[in-house]
Amino acid sequence: MRFEVRTSAISGRGVYALDHFQPNEAIAQYIGERVSQEECARRCAAGNRFLFSLDDNWALDGADPNNAARYFNHSCSPNCRSHIGDGEIWIVARREIQPGEELTFDYGYQMIEDTVIPCHCGAPNCYRFIVAEELRWYPPGTGSGTTANPQKVDPQP
Ligand SMILES: [Zn+2]
Repeated sequence: MRFEVRTSAISGRGVYALDHFQPNEAIAQYIGERVSQEECARRCAAGNRFLFSLDDNWALDGADPNNAARYFNHSCSPNCRSHIGDGEIWIVARREIQPGEELTFDYGYQMIEDTVIPCHCGAPNCYRFIVAEELRWYPPGTGSGTTANPQKVDPQP
């Protein structure tokens, strides 16, 4: 394995690089049961946090012990990104990564009031909530550092 799962400073368990990764290098596939968006909504409402949308019709339920990718934490300044294509989801390096770094990506959560989750990623630009980058109200990289009120975020571009 080129990464390991262990206790994270961000939240619960996290994934740590054991090797160097180059930009755009695939690191782990997000695997799980393929379910319809209707079933996805039902499982999300039941508290399952591991559903990952493939497209408008399908999602993967990554709550599977074999899915190491489910341990990747969210960061507001992530070193990885998710890539969706051909019905598969991969976690891919966003930049060069050194051994020992925790591997993170932007969960891309949309702003839904009852699913807002506090973020403890520690990045200088941390938004304090797990919210998709395009929905954070401050310009990327400016690191306002203030606690945002997610109810006031305008979801329009
Ligand atoms: Zn954060």
